[in-house]
Amino acid sequence: MRLSCEELCREFMQQLYEKLQTNYLDVLFLHNCDDLEDLDHILNGWMYAYARELKETGRAKLIGISTHNTKIAMEAVKSGKMEVLMFPVNPLFNLLPQDTADARMKGREVREMTEDEKAAYPTKEELYALCEEMGVPIVAMKPFAAGNILKNHEEGRLKGLLELTPVQCISYILSFPQVACPVPGFASVEELKQSLEYLTATEQERDFSEIDDSLVGKFKNQCMYCNHCQPCPKQIDIAEVTKLADMAEKEMTDDLKKRYQSLDVSGKDCIHCGSCTKRCPFGIDASANMKRAQDLFGC
Ligand code: SF4
Ligand code: SF4
Repeated sequence: MRLSCEELCREFMQQLYEKLQTNYLDVLFLHNCDDLEDLDHILNGWMYAYARELKETGRAKLIGISTHNTKIAMEAVKSGKMEVLMFPVNPLFNLLPQDTADARMKGREVREMTEDEKAAYPTKEELYALCEEMGVPIVAMKPFAAGNILKNHEEGRLKGLLELTPVQCISYILSFPQVACPVPGFASVEELKQSLEYLTATEQERDFSEIDDSLVGKFKNQCMYCNHCQPCPKQIDIAEVTKLADMAEKEMTDDLKKRYQSLDVSGKDCIHCGSCTKRCPFGIDASANMKRAQDLFGC
């Protein structure tokens, strides 16, 4: 017998409580909503009703939502149904032009916004102000922009433009009064240790004033290497292929060629179905990046 989405979700939650050996969750997050239609289903369908049920029976303390899209975050917070917002906060995301960061704001359609749409589009500052007004704390995801902005990062396009320590990134994020906490994903134990240094860091070490507004606009079309655009029907590691292409564009080396050639599937295997481009929360044309990689590496 095939279970409905709601039945599957209820079963999943039951297993989750058992595995975590707990009776309640601090925050029950409804994750990765980057589409207005999906938001409508969540807020007005069985999903929010089920979340309320868990809250009312003491199985969840707060109900939250995560999204990468400013307009959707605004709508979710305005609804009064969400008590916590998980949203990307980092210098790179905040310096991205609004139209790039939120290219998917028109449902599943990917296209550039018109000048009028850009002018009417909510800014991140407006979102932060709304969260303040509604008493909705922000849990800051992607504090290191998937490692793109950390010192010694090897990625091509940002090298020399934006290079920070984990302490500076955390300090930047916590400078927004609406942010309750960051949720870093660590690539190594070293990165974890460097982040914990925030607790004992000096004012000088926390200083992030080198983040310069003159960088605004320089990061258009910058992939975050997060792989949110998966799954790929050809099993291409889209983030890795894009990263290697970005690095090669700056300087092609034998090591990069070797790394690219060692991939089981790469740019040449892309069938340009476009599903990754539609899914990318940052408006990156991932399909075009596969072609760029193929052209750069010749395979
Ligand atoms: S194309 Fe988009 S979703 Fe895919 S890795 Fe890059 S930023 Fe992430
Ligand atoms: S466009 Fe290419 S990389 Fe993207 S999902 Fe389709 S096959 Fe995979």
